[in-house]
Amino acid sequence: MIMLEKAPAKINLGLDTSFRYADGSPQWNMVMTSVDLADYVSVQTYPNSTHVSVATDSGFLPNDQRNLAYQAVHILKSRFHQTDGVRVKIKKQIPVAAGLGGGSADAAAVLRALNQIWSLGLSLDELAKISLTIDSDVPYCIYNQTAHVTGHGEQIDLIDPFPHYSIVIAKPKISVSTPVILRQIDYDKLNHLKIDQLIEGLSQRDDPKMFAAMGNVLEPITAKAYPEINELKTKMLSLGADVAQMSGTGPSVFAICRKLSRAKRLQNSLRGFCNEVYLVRAL
Ligand code: ATP
Repeated sequence: MIMLEKAPAKINLGLDTSFRYADGSPQWNMVMTSVDLADYVSVQTYPNSTHVSVATDSGFLPNDQRNLAYQAVHILKSRFHQTDGVRVKIKKQIPVAAGLGGGSADAAAVLRALNQIWSLGLSLDELAKISLTIDSDVPYCIYNQTAHVTGHGEQIDLIDPFPHYSIVIAKPKISVSTPVILRQIDYDKLNHLKIDQLIEGLSQRDDPKMFAAMGNVLEPITAKAYPEINELKTKMLSLGADVAQMSGTGPSVFAICRKLSRAKRLQNSLRGFCNEVYLVRAL
């Protein structure tokens, strides 16, 4: 049996953390939304084989257990004693290691597909719980809706959707290691966000309130090592973006524009400055 799943990228409208758990991982307090930039994941099962394979059209990605989609297959296979062979093919559109959750989106897509193919009957909540061991962003990617995400990433509260504004995402040509950035968090120096105000702004459709509360406490850490982040932000704001900020641990920076014409102008202007620029909308 074969299923095709869309695996959308996420952006962090708000990203904050209050402390580190005993295992060293950060406690998250985030507002996330998904955008219409997506990988396409095909999942096919074979009853006469037990072999698992993952293939991507990207030359850089591993096809073995280091691929998050591969881990997703194995988690469901072992937990539910499924013996089928599984072939996953991923058409990558989301830039890799960009702070846009591409690997997590692929893993979540595999879990949703196998839940259907094997008629496991798991709810999205159950799938999200199972998926946390893969990566902290996978539970969110099971839903792909605007959400308040807390805990290790497994507590997902769906909130009012982000408006269908245009979003310009620019991915500078630099590689940022997520663990390296997370290790540098100094909890005494963080400038915490008003996540409650961001959630209220969304539900009240109060753009100034929402925009004022947006932010990413990891941005100064990544920007200190990579000046491109602040250069992109300054450029986006000078071109009329309503908000510009980094997603995840970076290096992608996104601009929100309420007017499509402004977003298009911004996209064109940024192309001379950054070779990967995407004009998208919130889902
Ligand atoms: P994170 O912040 O969770 O590390 P990210 O959103 O910045 O992730 P990803 O595109 O998920 O970026 O890539 C992060 C790492 O995950 C890369 O080093 C990549 O090799 C690995 N990875 C494993 N599987 C995948 C996949 N299916 N797609 C993209 N990257 C993958």
